[in-house]
Amino acid sequence: MYPYFPPYRTITLLMEGTTIEVPLLENHTYNLEGILTAINENTKLIFICNPNNPTGTILAENELELFLKSIPPHVIVVLDEAYVEFIDRERYRTGIDYVKEGYPVIFVRTFSKLYGLAGTRIGYAAARVEYIETIQAVREPFSANRIAHAGALAALDDQEYINKSLRENKREMLELTNKLKTLGFDVIESHANFLFVDMKEHVMVLSQALMQEGILIRPCIAWGLQSHARISIGTSEQNKLLIKSLKKLEKI
Ligand SMILES: *Cc1c(COP(=O)(O)O)cnc(C)c1O
Repeated sequence: MYPYFPPYRTITLLMEGTTIEVPLLENHTYNLEGILTAINENTKLIFICNPNNPTGTILAENELELFLKSIPPHVIVVLDEAYVEFIDRERYRTGIDYVKEGYPVIFVRTFSKLYGLAGTRIGYAAARVEYIETIQAVREPFSANRIAHAGALAALDDQEYINKSLRENKREMLELTNKLKTLGFDVIESHANFLFVDMKEHVMVLSQALMQEGILIRPCIAWGLQSHARISIGTSEQNKLLIKSLKKLEKI
């Protein structure tokens, strides 16, 4: 799963496990066949991030279900759905469907992204009872505070804010994608609130120059990618500033 979300590795090592990393395919999507082949008798968990951070790609319909049907019974899939609310596809099946249908899935979600509550540190997981009982046995007893609970409940009820965020993200993502492509960068279709962009040059140089303009992008150097960056979709003004700054830098 390379590039993948770094905590999967950290928490595995913390639990004295070992990791097997299966690189993404050329088109930046999961190599589910490769993951299947990498499973051995010691495999316990498989982390799948859908939409994937940092690429923004999603698994094709039915691809995941087929995969879940193919894994051996001693393996559990952790489906990281931090960005799932941004998937704009009719009847796209998510973790909740797979859990209800009895697949060996634990899905995890967060209030840090769509709901904008990253600072409150709240999210949740759902799975069949046996899995949750196991998690409960080792979970920190005081993991989420009441202020965060109140915020999360209020956020779930605030449909107006949710709709507005999704609408603006979709509009700005389209606009930013087109502008970046016009500037000659490669942008792949994203299903999240960020873009995975091939900036076609050493991304550290570019990101440092952008920092001087007050813009932070995420170079993907840590994932071994020299010219890729993850760029969050900002407000209309922020995105315009990014494009303006990129044009200015191009001229130098
Ligand atoms: C943000 C994020 C999370 C969860 O973040 P928290 O703020 O800790 O809830 C999980 N997975 C991915 C891929 C993320 O990007």
